[in-house]
Amino acid sequence: MPAPVEEFVRALAEARGAALLALDFDGTLAEVVDDPAAAAPAPGVTEVVSQAATRWGAVAIVSGRPLAFLDGRFPDPAVTLVGLYGLEVRRDGRRDDHPAAATWRSAVDRAVELARSTLPEEVGVEPKGASLTLHYRTCPSRAGEVGRVAADLSDRTGLVARGARMSVELHPPVHVDKGTVVSELAAGLTGPVCFVGDDLGDVPALAALERLRVAGRPTLAVAVVGPETPVELRAGADVEVAGPAAVVELLARLDA
Ligand SMILES: [Mg+2]
Repeated sequence: MPAPVEEFVRALAEARGAALLALDFDGTLAEVVDDPAAAAPAPGVTEVVSQAATRWGAVAIVSGRPLAFLDGRFPDPAVTLVGLYGLEVRRDGRRDDHPAAATWRSAVDRAVELARSTLPEEVGVEPKGASLTLHYRTCPSRAGEVGRVAADLSDRTGLVARGARMSVELHPPVHVDKGTVVSELAAGLTGPVCFVGDDLGDVPALAALERLRVAGRPTLAVAVVGPETPVELRAGADVEVAGPAAVVELLARLDA
């Protein structure tokens, strides 16, 4: 077992009931697939996550996906779900959205319409309610064009563009991201904090872990790495694993 994991396991043993486990979904608990709608938890994920939720202070899936998508894949109410980078939350089985989720819906609808009329059909336009994602995984040569259209949509609607793996996301301009989400979840607890992610959107969460570590909380930052891993993510990680199957193994080890 890598030294940072061993050290974290020791800290966990003393305070698991006050510890936070926060997990990204795509690329972390599910293989990334061409059709985003087809992404599903890897074998063993649902079980290991639900098992952790009975033992840790809190277990949360923190994703850029809408809550409706996550809800169908993690029906266990003991698992906290945070969708759209913090705009939509399900905690103790109850939904509690950020106020901006409602106010920016019409801007998102307009951006979806503009994106569909501007971009070639091979670029996937995914409406997510309070945000949208432009996917070019199946047509990587469109990356530059998608970036330009995203910037233009941002100018026209006030939404903010964020880069992700083979996609660009457009969000309401409110300061919520995986960093603010993890900080908030961790503030409600006193124990160790572990975060696992694979993409640029996860970097703020690793930065939040670093702040917690400096403040004296035991932390474990895990990067799920592959050919598309952003360098910023690797730089902030204590340990690297190879894919969702390896994440399941790691979580089982943390809970052994
Ligand atoms: Mg991801």
